[in-house]
Amino acid sequence: MSAALPTVHGNGCDAPVLKERGQREVFCGLTGILWLHRKMQDAFFLIVGSRTCAHLMQSAAGVMIFAEPRFGTAVMEEKDLAGMAVMDEELDRVVARLLERRPEIRTVFLVGSCPSEVIKLDLHRAAERLEERADGVRFIHYSGSGIETTFTQGEDSCLRALVPRLPEAPSGHANLLVVGTLADVVEEQLLRLFRELGVGPVDFLPGRTAEALPPVGPDTRVLAAQPWVNDTLRALTGRGATLLPAPFPLGAEGTTEWIRAAARAWDVSDDRVDQVVAPARARARRALDRYREALEGRSIFFFPDSQLEIPLARFLSREMGMRLVEVGTPHLDADHMTEELKLLPAEIRLAEGQDVERQLDRCREAGPDLTVCGMGLANPLEAEGLRTKWSIELVFTPIQGFEQAGDLAELFHRPLDRAQRLKV
Ligand code: SF4
Repeated sequence: MSAALPTVHGNGCDAPVLKERGQREVFCGLTGILWLHRKMQDAFFLIVGSRTCAHLMQSAAGVMIFAEPRFGTAVMEEKDLAGMAVMDEELDRVVARLLERRPEIRTVFLVGSCPSEVIKLDLHRAAERLEERADGVRFIHYSGSGIETTFTQGEDSCLRALVPRLPEAPSGHANLLVVGTLADVVEEQLLRLFRELGVGPVDFLPGRTAEALPPVGPDTRVLAAQPWVNDTLRALTGRGATLLPAPFPLGAEGTTEWIRAAARAWDVSDDRVDQVVAPARARARRALDRYREALEGRSIFFFPDSQLEIPLARFLSREMGMRLVEVGTPHLDADHMTEELKLLPAEIRLAEGQDVERQLDRCREAGPDLTVCGMGLANPLEAEGLRTKWSIELVFTPIQGFEQAGDLAELFHRPLDRAQRLKV
């Protein structure tokens, strides 16, 4: 149902937010395993779920190429769901076989699902039991269930579960903690800039291994790299860290302001930041110039899906001149989105949550040049003559930082270009 239209908050964009709570068309949090397992090279993700969960992961992963996947499913049978069998036995058996076959695994994430939540399987107790038994292997549990969550929240739940395990940073240890998965290549580029600015030491959560956990303490400064890590940020501030407000590192502007937020915390002047980022920013702007003419003035509609919608809308409107018809987001955490909301145009339709039929009606009525949506909606909309972009592609592709700004613009240019060619 559509509700009254409260404004976002007092100090940024004052656009009204359309709050919707209806039928949702999104993947569940298990999907996050697809990028998390590639990032944390010593981790294994064991889904405690049904055959449906196993099939979802197989088909979602089917579009990707793995040497050896580091995820699997302990399948709950019907008798488990009815509480007739002890799921613990199945878990113990699967885990013993896994650790025997893959001795390099140092952290096992037990990932809950809708079925395990419905029967209230105690994964906390299971993780404790398995960790006691396993020799030096860490067991951490979190939920990837699709009940009232969207697919990127799986990463937030995973990282949130790691926070209590982070070692305590000694007082005076002023580190920068970047939160949210970034491609290794992006991490390296950003690290080089931070080094040049004298900002650091810099840690990443998640890191390249789940074993090497970054320290956190009262002098830790936290910078969010992804817009879906809200619970993790709260847990980190709960451990004394300070959150640095910043837009997300998308596009030349977003990346500059993101780096500037960290630099200010290290007392580096804005002039120095501009000087250090100038060559990379100029490259990014040149890359964006190639696509601006094709994107400028074109209209775009975002269905709520990945939580990247608001930062992407900001980038497309400010740096590419696109016209925002509607920007839907599954959740609007105004506290962590403040710096983005400030940069959005005043005349904007923001929608939080989903009522898919109503959104489809609004989208059809507006007839945007481009629609960003989940895979399930893309095919029918394409059949109706609308051009679409899968939001999940924006999650899997490295799009953050200066060097990737052109690739980001190209992702939006591609469907429009294809449509133009087909017309010709
Ligand atoms: Fe489906 Fe829930 Fe399993 Fe996700 S966790 S695949 S939504 S049953």
